[in-house]
Amino acid sequence: MEIEGREKERLRMVETQIAARGVRDERVLSAMREIPRHLFVPESYQSAAYNDSPLPIGKGQTISQPYIVAVMTELLRLVPADKVLEIGSGSGYQAAILGKLAQTVVTVERIPEVAEMARANLARVGITNVTVATGNGTIGYPEGAPFDGILITAATPSVPAPLIDQMAEGGRLVAPVGSRDLQELVRLTRQGERITRELFGGVVFVPLLGEHGWQE
Ligand code: SAH
Repeated sequence: MEIEGREKERLRMVETQIAARGVRDERVLSAMREIPRHLFVPESYQSAAYNDSPLPIGKGQTISQPYIVAVMTELLRLVPADKVLEIGSGSGYQAAILGKLAQTVVTVERIPEVAEMARANLARVGITNVTVATGNGTIGYPEGAPFDGILITAATPSVPAPLIDQMAEGGRLVAPVGSRDLQELVRLTRQGERITRELFGGVVFVPLLGEHGWQE
């Protein structure tokens, strides 16, 4: 009952906030129609889950605005056989969307209680191809590398070098890069030793903390 609830709100979110603003990838749109975002926010925010904004999820962290989730996912250009790494699990919502589009996903979260929440949320909605690892994501996840897609969902002063090293041939990496207050969405693509870099506009994320991110 709860899983099926709020479907009308969710479909309206996808049409008015995401498709209307230019996200065209049908696989991304249908993943966002399917995953019940309201089950990834604290109960007191469930009625706001389909609003056009980020929301607090506890421990000073946030679940990103739905449109930004869609844009970053589309930029990754995932195909069903892909292996994906996300840094910054938060609620687990972005990882659930990635799980719908790729073969396997590893998502790394620094705060143990937040990682536990992401695990519980993912289990509740029946996503089984996403692993939540607790640790410092600025060093990536060497034991699972290389990855076809890497998504950093926290603000970083520059793309951590270990993550670039963990990109597969033809792999894509998407990240908010800039200052603590404002970042730009960056996509890196690997072709052999050559990394191309494209920019996709301003965003605001909570900081990526640790060795290759911001000082704690
Ligand atoms: N993708 C999430 C939102 C991310 S919020 C969602 O869908 O809800 C950013 C998250 O990055 C926070 O949970 C924060 O604790 C985490 N984070 C910050 N620095 C990190 C690091 N070095 N390694 C892993 N996670 C980190």
